[in-house]
Amino acid sequence: MALGFLLSGYSQEESLPDKPNFVLIVADDLGFADLSLNGSQQIPTPNIDRLARSGVNCTEGYVSSPVCSPSRAGLMTGINQVKFGHDNNLGGNQKGFDPAYLGLPLTEKTVADLLKPLNYTNGLIGKWHLGKEAHFHPLQRGFDEFWGYTGGGHDYFTALADGKGYKCPIECNYAEPGPLTYITDDVGTESVKFINRHKSDPFFLYAAFNAPHTPMQATKEDLALFSYIKDQKRRTYAAMVHRLDVNVGRILDALEENSLRENTLVVFISDNGGPVNSNASINAPYNGQKGILLEGGIHVPFIMSWPKVLKRNTTYTHPVTALDLTPTMVALAGGKLNQADFDGVNLIPYLTEEIDDKPHAHLQWRFTISAAIREGNWKLVRLPDRLPLLFDLSNDISEQNNLSLKHLDVTERLLRKLGKWDVSLPHPVFLEGAVWRARQLGLYDKEYQLAQPAKK
Ligand code: CA
Repeated sequence: MALGFLLSGYSQEESLPDKPNFVLIVADDLGFADLSLNGSQQIPTPNIDRLARSGVNCTEGYVSSPVCSPSRAGLMTGINQVKFGHDNNLGGNQKGFDPAYLGLPLTEKTVADLLKPLNYTNGLIGKWHLGKEAHFHPLQRGFDEFWGYTGGGHDYFTALADGKGYKCPIECNYAEPGPLTYITDDVGTESVKFINRHKSDPFFLYAAFNAPHTPMQATKEDLALFSYIKDQKRRTYAAMVHRLDVNVGRILDALEENSLRENTLVVFISDNGGPVNSNASINAPYNGQKGILLEGGIHVPFIMSWPKVLKRNTTYTHPVTALDLTPTMVALAGGKLNQADFDGVNLIPYLTEEIDDKPHAHLQWRFTISAAIREGNWKLVRLPDRLPLLFDLSNDISEQNNLSLKHLDVTERLLRKLGKWDVSLPHPVFLEGAVWRARQLGLYDKEYQLAQPAKK
């Protein structure tokens, strides 16, 4: 059957390439607008642009949640995380919920679990955010090597032996971690060392950068590069994105220096949209931000580069999702998967146009108080306190014109489809504090910057 072939196809092809390496680079809370690739005048990102030129820029790329932890739960499993109750961010849990369940459910396999029996060496450098209890630890979830922190963020300069929260110690299972220099550089350095150590193995490197998530901290040298930006928070953010870009470049250089670039699939995404106020990011031309299901929360930069197979400097315009990345990697590694176990698909035959169809007939989201569906160019968002929002993305990418009453037939059809899916899902395994529900509604009422700022 076609789908079975898609997932196992490369292991059966005569033109079987050597097992490719995988480098999954994830930015944290990056604004869609804030790459020169996407038109930023303020923040040049030559290395991320260079990555895009070496492969495919998926311009309709989504994540499965507008916040960190559930987005990463979907990314790591290839399954929409609401199917296993990982709807919410890990945070202050509600009374009555057992902290032993506060993480990626142990019923689920990660991409690292799936790659391990296929002889891959798996490394996580940076942020985990899929549970702090020992049984959720990345080294229990398929990773061979880990340098980083299990929480949702970290101070950029300081890790203390007895530190808590963002100043917690850095964990590392293969060396004694030294003091932080600047964490974005340290993630880059450890990623380069991982590539050098494992250049002879098939490897999966998950480079999970902190940047440009809060706290807003940059080096003096990088801040000086952006002195033309008057707003201090925005200037700091620009410096943080710049440093992220430099370290993406270091990773690409390490692959090139080891002659690994041709047969390495490098992916770059952000885990969710920019949170606007907290880090001064901009999601233009998309409306909304981190935490909500308007495009600004879930429509992210999405680059896939595998020079050996994918055309260079191309764009792909059908919607794709981060849920596709696990099935893609496992299929390319020679794994045999049952497509029914995944919400994502192996994207490679779509990107090569071997399959002349869309990867997804529709995409769906559920996040705390909200749910959304995209089918073709229709996008419907369902909220508890107002009529549904219906947008035609073919001529309204900024989601400005609610057509729900004008196209009542579409509204009713999509509401029914979305609702049927929603009620088929299990309850969340853990909840965030109720305060976030009211805050989230407020985020739908805000006005967002929908155009790129001028350089100065
Ligand atoms: Ca995030």
